[in-house]
Amino acid sequence: MDFHGCDANRNLAFLSHVSAGVSGLRPYQPGMPIEELQRRLGIADAVKLASNENPLGASPKVATALARAVATNLALYPDDGAFRLKRMLAERHGVTPESITLCNGSNTLLDLYARVFLGPDRAAMYSQYAFAVYPIVTAAQNAPAVVIPALPPDHPQMPYGDNLEEFAAHLREDVALIFLASPNNPTGTWVSAEAFERFMARVPARTLVVLDEAYHEFQAPRLRIDSAALLLRYPNLAVTRTFSKAFGLAGLRVGYGVSHPRVADLLGRVRQPFNNGTLALVAAQASLDDVAHIEATVANNDVERERMTQHLRALGLQVLPSQANFVTLDLGRDAAPVHQALLESGVIVRPMKSYGLLQCLRVSIGLPSHNRRFLDALKRALER
Ligand SMILES: *Cc1c(COP(=O)(O)O)cnc(C)c1O
Repeated sequence: MDFHGCDANRNLAFLSHVSAGVSGLRPYQPGMPIEELQRRLGIADAVKLASNENPLGASPKVATALARAVATNLALYPDDGAFRLKRMLAERHGVTPESITLCNGSNTLLDLYARVFLGPDRAAMYSQYAFAVYPIVTAAQNAPAVVIPALPPDHPQMPYGDNLEEFAAHLREDVALIFLASPNNPTGTWVSAEAFERFMARVPARTLVVLDEAYHEFQAPRLRIDSAALLLRYPNLAVTRTFSKAFGLAGLRVGYGVSHPRVADLLGRVRQPFNNGTLALVAAQASLDDVAHIEATVANNDVERERMTQHLRALGLQVLPSQANFVTLDLGRDAAPVHQALLESGVIVRPMKSYGLLQCLRVSIGLPSHNRRFLDALKRALER
């Protein structure tokens, strides 16, 4: 049904009830799907390096497990308690299943944290270049946001990175929740384990820290925050993880949180029943045990991220330090025409305009052939 010019537009007075937070929101801008580029420009062999998906796909064990699961009775609701997957995750994190919250993607989990802990007099804090979902879930609760300026673009170690000193300095009374991703999207930057530990020691007990570890698997082990140990020391710390990135299950939507059981209990009160489908649960279980697939994923990422970084720097471009499965580059000029030229070459990357980074592009690390195609297209685009 087309609403343009029809009678239904005559009185939209009910819209006056929409909250200020929602009225002011701009929706999340996802990476362009391959099909859309094909539709728009008729390009048959497009490469998508725009949403940090796993270029190796999911573990082959997933297809086997799904084939078996499809033959079961999909008319039945899934296991709402996700008994098996929760037990596997609890074991992996050294906690009891009561500490695990499963969600339809970890973005949904971020929304649950916001719904439980934020409101007009309970603020969220996050960094200037934090993941776009944090401001969205915050505004949806009509909660104030304390946005902490990022480290400067010419910072010697971590340009555009999160400034934990400034976070700590602004922990006013009404800050209920801190969202922090490490490694962070869209920058790829991270906070050091030492800095994060010092930070946790300074966060008052009244403030919950949500540490978003969506890119955990891609980070060098020696640089990782020991979130398992910190969770035991700080009940006001919660960690989120996802099956969308290293596990290659973005299409099925599974994420989870590890937290104090009291926090998990509160999240469980507001989540929707049956929020993970049967197939999603089965796939997550099957992928969790395939250590070799994660190793192959990380190995490709390590080699290709380094190679990509070297090539981009050789072109004279600033590449932000990254411990994730993407790199963000500063072109030193408006990125929009370059983004458009890349699209016309059949390469989809992510413009950073919505983050206020007009000169930056974020590029997911793909297979060697994908990355070569991007680099070739970029060279041509820069020469135009
Ligand atoms: C991709 C991403 C997520 C995960 O999203 P899902 O909903 O689990 O697919 C969460 N946080 C950050 C910072 C991300 O980049």
